[in-house]
Amino acid sequence: MYPHSNLPEPRLAVFPDSYTHARDLWKQHIFNLRMPLAERSFSAHASAPDGTQLATDSVWLGGQSATRVLVIIGGTHGIEGFAGTAAICDLLAGLAHEQLPDDLAVLCVHALNPWGYAWHRRCDADGVDLNRNCIDFGQPLPQKPGYTELRPALFDPDSKRRQQAFQAYIDTHGQTAFEIAVSGGQYHDPTGPFYGGSRPAHGRRVVEALMADHGLGERRLGVIDVHTGLGEWGNGEIICDHLPGSDGADTALRWYGTRCTLPALGTSSSVPKTGLLDYAWHAIMPAGSCYITLEYGTYETQELFDVLLQDHRFWAEHGAAAARHPERAALIERMRAHFCPDDPEWRRQVLLQARRAIRQAMEGLLS
Ligand SMILES: [Zn+2]
Repeated sequence: MYPHSNLPEPRLAVFPDSYTHARDLWKQHIFNLRMPLAERSFSAHASAPDGTQLATDSVWLGGQSATRVLVIIGGTHGIEGFAGTAAICDLLAGLAHEQLPDDLAVLCVHALNPWGYAWHRRCDADGVDLNRNCIDFGQPLPQKPGYTELRPALFDPDSKRRQQAFQAYIDTHGQTAFEIAVSGGQYHDPTGPFYGGSRPAHGRRVVEALMADHGLGERRLGVIDVHTGLGEWGNGEIICDHLPGSDGADTALRWYGTRCTLPALGTSSSVPKTGLLDYAWHAIMPAGSCYITLEYGTYETQELFDVLLQDHRFWAEHGAAAARHPERAALIERMRAHFCPDDPEWRRQVLLQARRAIRQAMEGLLS
């Protein structure tokens, strides 16, 4: 069964240089497939820096009636899509001369946040972190007093003063509480990081459309959402945000073994968060399904916060002029270096560990 042990060494050419290049790679890899497939495209009603239309694309591989579906998603966090495209195209390349097992389909979702991808940002055009956007907007927005307390420090351009304020918060509340306050999700500061928005964002609407159109709530699901930038260098952490003891958590632990970590238990490099995309999937998944974030580490969490805060300060300061600002090139380079390091071994590990997670998910689905 795919992916088997005699697959060729991964080709690093599946890592794109830009969103436009990524979409070309995606189309080329789909063109090479020799199996039943159904493609869809969801316009994001926005443009790339070169003026091309932005879209999220999806492809369904295999029989329409399959009762088990592997779902792989890239670009939930815009700029993290470079690794997502690579993992998906490596899967598509591997399937070019294969057949899927009976009763198993694969759904690939490319560039879930295409604006962030094209503009080298983690958020979308409205500043929304798609992975904090899955809350019930019919209810009052969540209050995040820890974020509010830290907000002045987050936007302080003086890094020494900023670190002192962070350390004071950590000394009082602890490191985990600090990380939750900064990155757990906030709903009142559109210019700030980890902003969950005030209505369902493009990527969430795409996911909900795919769930409805493919009847995903009626099929067993193994969802892998590819992310980068948090955790140990080159390690693809299997993060499970199902509640400990739930069917989803038990399924993830069975499929992925001890490599599977749970933020709720404090065993992950990620902390518990509000509004994750996970929760939309948890709500529809039948028993024997699970959703994991495949998170590839690069640099330390402090560096992640530093580069993201620089990005948010830059866009908050320059507004619409940020897009053409001469200093943006250096910022793009720093974002690229953090979220998709130009290091052959790091990139190779992304592909090898994606293959392993995909194989574990497929075996789990078929068990
Ligand atoms: Zn991410």
